[in-house]
Amino acid sequence: MTATIIKGTEVRDKILEEIEAEVAEIKEKHGVVPGLVTILLGEDPASISYVTAKIKTAHKLGFNEIQESQSPDLSEEALLDLVEKYNKDDSINGILVQLPLPNHIDDKKVLNAIDPDKDVDGFHPVNVGRLMIGGDAIKFPPCTPAGIQEMIVRSGVETSGAEVVVVGRSNIVGKPIANLMLQKGPGANSTVTIVHTRTKDLAAHCKRADILIVAAGVPGLVKPEWIKPGACVIDVGVNRIGEKISEKTGKKIAILSGDVDFDAAKEIAGYITPVPGGVGPMTITMLMKNTLKSLKFKLGIA
Ligand code: NAD
Repeated sequence: MTATIIKGTEVRDKILEEIEAEVAEIKEKHGVVPGLVTILLGEDPASISYVTAKIKTAHKLGFNEIQESQSPDLSEEALLDLVEKYNKDDSINGILVQLPLPNHIDDKKVLNAIDPDKDVDGFHPVNVGRLMIGGDAIKFPPCTPAGIQEMIVRSGVETSGAEVVVVGRSNIVGKPIANLMLQKGPGANSTVTIVHTRTKDLAAHCKRADILIVAAGVPGLVKPEWIKPGACVIDVGVNRIGEKISEKTGKKIAILSGDVDFDAAKEIAGYITPVPGGVGPMTITMLMKNTLKSLKFKLGIA
């Protein structure tokens, strides 16, 4: 059996098309567009590239986007003031503070200062609580887990009653995706197990998964023989395993691998995501969706 490859780029393009159409409709009916501010301190190349990609996507969708590029020496107090300025700004629906922040700043304090109703990353304790409560309480599911759920649902994989095994218990992937999949409602209703570094028999748990979501950051952790034939395998891991010269640019680029041996796993699984080009493209997409949602909540049309 060769698995259906779930391409994140295709799912992304479809969702971005839907967002763009909705933005145009809201603009026509209500005369407003979603507003997103990204706050970046310093010049870390990876952070600059993430922020640039977010800004570019927001711009393409017709959002009002503001880029706050600040000095790495900005004080914590000044950063908190900046967050407060955008908390009060009616034209802004989403505030994103790019992590990591410089060492002199307490990132928890900054993230907790964001108005939960503009916390489109979904990391504020209020939004973590809303996710736990579930149903209508959920406002902004964290972007990577929300993207994973969209990929599963849009591939037509049955989630109701499915055994979902999540490898990894981080606050940004493992715990929130487990929470999303166990909710009562469409695209969820699963029986969820979370496994981690202290789990006694990782293989046994993985083997009974109808949907296996792996977010450990360990290349090749999940062996092909741990995959149930026909299962849906979502590989969230992004691991740099070497470097190569890009054929396109002639520049050095990282060779990336997931947490699953893709070539062997695709012969057993029913559905599988590649790395790169799987979950990766979904994160920014869902950030855009959350920002649009934030505006819709404000307009009372969500
Ligand atoms: P993390 O390091 O915070 O958490 C990893 C989790 O995996 C931990 O809970 C740990 O208990 C578990 N784990 C690690 N080794 C294990 C092992 N040998 N056996 C069982 N469990 C093990 O990482 P994270 O932030 O959740 O990210 C996980 C991976 O997903 C990373 O490779 C990261 O780069 C990737 N990631 C990708 C995206 C994206 O594509 N958009 C977003 C976030 C994270």
